[in-house]
Amino acid sequence: MVGTSMLEAVPFDDRITCIKTASSVGDQVIMWVYAYHVEDALFDAGCANAIGELREYATKHPIRRVFVTHFHEDHYGGCAAFLPNAEIFARPMTLESIHKPYLLPQFFEWVWGTPDPVIEACELTTSTIQVKDFTFEVLDFSGHCAEMIGFWEPEQKWLFSADAVPLPSEKKMAMPEENIPKLITRMEEIQDLNPHILFDGHRGPIPQPRKHIDKRIKFLTELQIQVQELANKGKTISEIKSILGFPEPWYLPNTEERFAIEHLIRSLLEDED
Ligand SMILES: [Zn+2]
Repeated sequence: MVGTSMLEAVPFDDRITCIKTASSVGDQVIMWVYAYHVEDALFDAGCANAIGELREYATKHPIRRVFVTHFHEDHYGGCAAFLPNAEIFARPMTLESIHKPYLLPQFFEWVWGTPDPVIEACELTTSTIQVKDFTFEVLDFSGHCAEMIGFWEPEQKWLFSADAVPLPSEKKMAMPEENIPKLITRMEEIQDLNPHILFDGHRGPIPQPRKHIDKRIKFLTELQIQVQELANKGKTISEIKSILGFPEPWYLPNTEERFAIEHLIRSLLEDED
């Protein structure tokens, strides 16, 4: 049972506010998702269970544009809260979900909530976004899913990276839409940008994120080699899974195979494209 939905607005500095939303059971937050408020713009929109709190936030803050990074419900679920004062922008696949949210397994209904459809949302067609004095480049971060974008401010060296860098340092499961080889390449590209602050979709702002990202690249690259060697010896995916012996968290069956260790192994055996 979901206790309450939550919103915490935490200023990062006088230019950026972290908008954290989640559902909680008792005092325990299941998982935070971060949206970021910069001047009159919002990067991502929070989760649907916090729609009431997001509406309240929107009445107190002049948000005119919401830019959604990708089509996962925890990132676009709060879009409806910002109407009618804000325009909602996203790339085509993401836009499809915002217009017509997909059906969620019950577990995710519990964790994030089902978004209200926002038919007013429109396509983001530009490769840069001007937010007052800041010019953000729109970057392709597909890999975590088939379509994801991030926002890079080269002067400040800020990177709003959504889910481009995995939350756990050792990623041991995946969704079927994740392309892990591509996700590794994206993280290497992020290292080349050398961001000063990584504004992560679930961990919040990470200053000087090089080590944080390196750890994740190293784990997945080594795992990829191990998995490919096992496959070359003729092991099946389920045999590789039992050799790896990754623990299965309690909630894994509740995801109705939206998350699985097998998805991760399968993706590691495929090419990037
Ligand atoms: Zn995601």
